[in-house]
Amino acid sequence: MDEPDYTIRLAQTSSSEPDFREAFDAAVEEHNETHQGSQKKPWTQARVDEVINEIKNGMDTFLSGLRRTAMEYYWMNKYEVITVDGEDQLIFKRSSPEDAVIRVLPREQYYDYLTEIHRSSEHGGRDKMLHCLKTKYYIPKKAVELFVSLCPKCHTKRNSINKDVLARQNYALKFNVRGLLDVIDYQICPDGYYQFVLNYQDDATKFLNLRPLKTNEASEILIELMKIFLTFGAPTILQVDNRHEFAEKLKEEVTALWPECRVVHKNTLAKGNNKEVEELLHSWMLQNNSTRWSVGCFVVQFETNDSVHKALGKSPYKSLFGCDPKVSLGVTNPAVLLSLHDVEITVKVEQEVESGENVPGLSSDEET
Ligand SMILES: [Zn+2]
Repeated sequence: MDEPDYTIRLAQTSSSEPDFREAFDAAVEEHNETHQGSQKKPWTQARVDEVINEIKNGMDTFLSGLRRTAMEYYWMNKYEVITVDGEDQLIFKRSSPEDAVIRVLPREQYYDYLTEIHRSSEHGGRDKMLHCLKTKYYIPKKAVELFVSLCPKCHTKRNSINKDVLARQNYALKFNVRGLLDVIDYQICPDGYYQFVLNYQDDATKFLNLRPLKTNEASEILIELMKIFLTFGAPTILQVDNRHEFAEKLKEEVTALWPECRVVHKNTLAKGNNKEVEELLHSWMLQNNSTRWSVGCFVVQFETNDSVHKALGKSPYKSLFGCDPKVSLGVTNPAVLLSLHDVEITVKVEQEVESGENVPGLSSDEET
């Protein structure tokens, strides 16, 4: 019988990755050897040739009206031989000529065919590979599995995915190690009663919390900070900018509530994200033609958490939760929040007017 010639069709794949081929062939062989107890003998080239001969002889015997041997009968019942371009190929027996031709490949050719299919399926996994093979070739599931598990490219891909998972875990593991607290002064552009923005950011994940404040007194800051800490937990180190008058008092009060939280005063927040928050709030106000930054700060907070952070290479949200938000915000100016805010202000204005007090910032708000 002629030696099958695949060198032209598979030339590109047969010469590459010699280590991979060697490792794969060895793994398949080892698997066959350690599973000899099973009835299925491996389809080596020699065995395929042997069965092809049995079937061809059986066919001759059958046509000459003689009785076939048990083996000839057995093989002819399960397989057929077809000739393609002068080459005999072993295929599964079809019940009609319209059925798919599924060729039994010899083990020696698994690598070449799997390489071809693996490439055309863009490094598809075992099941994708088996699906591609299903109507054309028979290669045992185990061999496909071994191939995918040994593919160097898939290996690299899996490793980088693992690294990514690890990196994410690392960020999340460092969540609440250090929290950075600052207060941004908005007295020059008050929003009703609100004159400050509490800016609290987790140092590792960059997860941001913004809260509008009426004052920059320790008691009010503490209330907002507690809401955040009682949602996300308190950090082991709370870093507060020492420029602030409230710093010392806040330290006492935070420590009383969270004794394990160490409050440190550092003038490092000039390098922090205040400027970025201010810029984002400013563009929110321009975009929405509104000075209601006490509402806008929550939108800016969400959008910042949902945007890729340069240093992390991913969003703070993803760094913390390991996934992106499932649904996105459809508006940048939540009318519901604004109208609630209106009610709040109106009630307060009425109270203040009754008591004869001045309402800061209200007159400068173009939406009122
Ligand atoms: Zn691969």
